Amino acid sequence: MDKLQKIREEEIKAVTEMIGIFCRDVHKTDGVELCPECEELLEYIKKRVNSCPRMAEKTLCSECRTHCYAPNRQQRIKQIMHYSGSKLALRSPVMAVRRKITHWISTIQQIVYDIF
Ligand SMILES: [Zn+2]
Repeated sequence: MDKLQKIREEEIKAVTEMIGIFCRDVHKTDGVELCPECEELLEYIKKRVNSCPRMAEKTLCSECRTHCYAPNRQQRIKQIMHYSGSKLALRSPVMAVRRKITHWISTIQQIVYDIF
């Protein structure tokens, strides 16, 4: 797997995890089978990450000047990150995992906050 592919997968993994938590708690699903609304948002984000025109010249979406996420989705993503971020950090007893999650959270938060 090349580096680019790895970056994309990391971003998608983080987002998938966070939407899963949000959907499970807020929309009362099992967190694996998402509700149609969250499923649609996740698909949208995956598409954006995979088709990012600038992935080769940056390491993270937060460093990008091309703003991929549409405004109405930015709000939703922000809400999900805020909710799931704290939950994820609390849930993981292993420090290494927690650090990784913290890194994900800051990555995703940057993606979102950068857009505004
Ligand atoms: Zn949902």
